[in-house]
Amino acid sequence: MSEAVQERFLKAGQIAYQAIDYTCQRVKAHTSLLDIAETGERKIFELGGKPAFPINISVNHHAAHYTPSYGDSAKVPKKALVKIDLGVHVDGYIADTARTVIIGGDAEMERLREAAEAGLRAAIETIRSRIRVWEVSKEIHKAISGFGVRPIENLTGHTIERFNLHAGISVPAIAPTSERVLSPRLKEDMVIAIEPFTTYSPTPRISNIGEAQIFGFAQHKNPKDPNLRHLYSQMKLSFAQLPFAARWLSEFVPPEEINSTLSSLMGERCIHGYAVLGLHDRHFVAQAEHTVIVTKDGCIVTTVNQ
Ligand code: MN
Ligand code: MN
Repeated sequence: MSEAVQERFLKAGQIAYQAIDYTCQRVKAHTSLLDIAETGERKIFELGGKPAFPINISVNHHAAHYTPSYGDSAKVPKKALVKIDLGVHVDGYIADTARTVIIGGDAEMERLREAAEAGLRAAIETIRSRIRVWEVSKEIHKAISGFGVRPIENLTGHTIERFNLHAGISVPAIAPTSERVLSPRLKEDMVIAIEPFTTYSPTPRISNIGEAQIFGFAQHKNPKDPNLRHLYSQMKLSFAQLPFAARWLSEFVPPEEINSTLSSLMGERCIHGYAVLGLHDRHFVAQAEHTVIVTKDGCIVTTVNQ
């Protein structure tokens, strides 16, 4: 990796670190989720970055992909596990990081968060070039199991490339023996987001539990409707073809037209929604995430205080 590229990854990481710190401090009982998301995203711009995706605020049994809608009135409950998941890009070089904030918590909630953090630490200690992803997953699972909780089985870490948040290789938090030899090897300079999720649920698999508020662009597709075509190219430019929030459309259309605009773009298959993910049994979920650059003997964590 050239020095210039690494510098940008590190800059994105540093901004992400500062922005998540700021955002998490604003998470208090009864504060508005919309306010937390908007001030956090504004902070990213102030620090010289751009959001790589809308700030995800996933509360309690929600695991991922919830971001407030336009005019959202949802507030932080008085007992809550709040996952703040935030992405920053500098010139397309992305940092992805998440923390869990506990409001009015108890020892069980603390343990869930500690387990996710321990899983993340174990991965960071294991990662180096040439090692199989499977070995990393095994260490994550072992660390989490040590707390008597379970990893979410169908949410994974992921490689990152320029302007590409999910670049192909997944890093699960479980390691079935049968998958060992098929598991890819890490290479020097790979950029990976590691993000274990934890729960007490006996069936730790997430599914779609809410309507999409985050959307992604389809590749090589433009709307046939000429009115939409202009808007669509503006959106692509403004959001750098990365995932965007429904509420961000208020930059282009009146608020009351956001939903119909999204429906039209979905109808033309130019965008797709990311449904809110969570546990149907309503068990709480915790998460911890950092982005790392793989080196010969280890890794550089970009999303810590440098
Ligand atoms: Mn993330
Ligand atoms: Mn991620």
